[in-house]
Amino acid sequence: MPASDKGNVPLLEARDISASYGQVQALKPTSLHIAEGELVTILGPNGAGKTTLMRALTRLTASKGNLFFRGEDITGLSTHRLARRGIIMVQEGRGLFPQMSVRENLVIGAFLHSAETDAQMTSVFELFPRLKERLDQLAGSLSGGEQQMLAIGRALMAKPQLLMLDEPSLGLAPRVAFEILGTLRELNRRGIGILLVEQKAPLALKLAQRVYVIALGKIVAELKTDEIKSHHDLARYYLH
Ligand code: ATP
Repeated sequence: MPASDKGNVPLLEARDISASYGQVQALKPTSLHIAEGELVTILGPNGAGKTTLMRALTRLTASKGNLFFRGEDITGLSTHRLARRGIIMVQEGRGLFPQMSVRENLVIGAFLHSAETDAQMTSVFELFPRLKERLDQLAGSLSGGEQQMLAIGRALMAKPQLLMLDEPSLGLAPRVAFEILGTLRELNRRGIGILLVEQKAPLALKLAQRVYVIALGKIVAELKTDEIKSHHDLARYYLH
């Protein structure tokens, strides 16, 4: 690839990605991309297929279609191999091990880079000092906000280049949700690409540079965040 074209190669590109549950096609063939250093949000009503899209992109759900990472075809890779490339998802509901300590949950997150566990932990504590104070506490005994910090912290232990988050503010008080989403801006500043599904649309739209709107298993709009104001229907639905 000519060096001059390199800047145009997306971090992740999905072409005609689709997924079904039995006979039901929850995600119709869908194409999208996330540029280097971009924070993109996916909006859509309940049941639109947002989670399915994220799971299809990380192959947590069996899916068809092609995936490219920095221009390289990664279509055939499993979730585990995608994680090795730095494509990491924080699932809705957080997926922590509640009977294990904060430290143990973080160490598990570093399984791909175990030699760097201590250094990674230090950088997670810079972002979430509260996790350091609670290192020996069981994950299941943390508050909702702390659990979400731990889920993101655990994902960071895997050194993501693209972090996907499925409704990280779910069930959190507004102040805590604001704090958690603020850390995503900081991670994005550090160069991590972010794909965010978020029910708190006005907040997500403050962070994101670009938005995809999904309905009935299909992307129905793609726009820069500031363009949403001039789309009367979308603005009415998502900005209040
Ligand atoms: P929400 O905002 O409510 O979380 P969503 O936009 O993330 O919704 P999905 O969870 O991706 O939507 O669901 C898309 C469709 O697929 C829905 O109709 C849902 O009922 C269906 N679906 C999701 N998971 C399964 C499953 N494991 N088996 C069967 N159908 C499923």
